[in-house]
Amino acid sequence: MSPDLVHARVFESLTRLRLGYVAERLDALLAEAARTEPTYLDFLDNLLREEVGSKQRKRIAMGIQIAHFPTVKTLDDFDFKFQPSVDHKLVRELAMGRFIAQAENVLIFGPPGVGKTHLAIALGRAVVEAGHSVLFTSATALLAALSRAETEGQLAERLLFYTKPKLLIVDEVGYLPFERRSAHLFFQLVARRYERSSTLITTNQVVTQWGTVFGDEVLAAAILDRLLHHSHTLMLSGESYRLKQKKKAGLLSGSVSPAK
Ligand code: ADP
Ligand code: MG
Repeated sequence: MSPDLVHARVFESLTRLRLGYVAERLDALLAEAARTEPTYLDFLDNLLREEVGSKQRKRIAMGIQIAHFPTVKTLDDFDFKFQPSVDHKLVRELAMGRFIAQAENVLIFGPPGVGKTHLAIALGRAVVEAGHSVLFTSATALLAALSRAETEGQLAERLLFYTKPKLLIVDEVGYLPFERRSAHLFFQLVARRYERSSTLITTNQVVTQWGTVFGDEVLAAAILDRLLHHSHTLMLSGESYRLKQKKKAGLLSGSVSPAK
């Protein structure tokens, strides 16, 4: 059979097998092989690795899109020196994503500006890279969505939507107090996810304040009970990173020189 026909057939087979990346790069890969003369095994290995690598990149890009992270933050751009209070080793361990298989939760506590959201996003990205589904939401948006769904008779569907991801990140719990009804909806969600999938919470409120946040001590205790049962805790402290940047720029030093 003519080489052209075989080439066409290989291309068709690759496409049918959905090995699109290799199909697209077939000519370049063949030209390179003609030049470097790899063994049959090395050639096959290289081909498959290219395809696996491409599929992996696509899956991660899709997972990150689905997660709805508000910004791009990574562990690499987190300055652990500025935040010595944080357990560096635990963060690295969590980033491997093993807590997901155990349906363990993560709670990040700390005052404003110390990097809670940054770490939540960075860990979320790492979990996507480890192959799990992630959804990021602020507590306010989550509660608004659940309340709306309840009013519209769509609560079951909405709860399912927030129950599905292997990791649900709820950012900024405690910045605004929950209404009583919202607190109940939040409890329902936490109860559904309990021991099935992981939830990561960031909060500026210590647990003793959660009664105030949820407007009900008993409900707060029930929520905390489930969140804390199998959980990892990161305590962040110190001053706001944002303010530090401003201080550096001389904006908050108290000795701002008058404009000339
Ligand atoms: P929080 O959620 O605790 O209020 P953020 O995570 O939003 O704080 O952090 C505020 C800003 O400061 C973000 O832009 C974040 O990337 C940055 N930031 C905070 N801590 C660090 C850190 N240790 N290293 C690098 N950037 C940081
Ligand atoms: Mg935040």
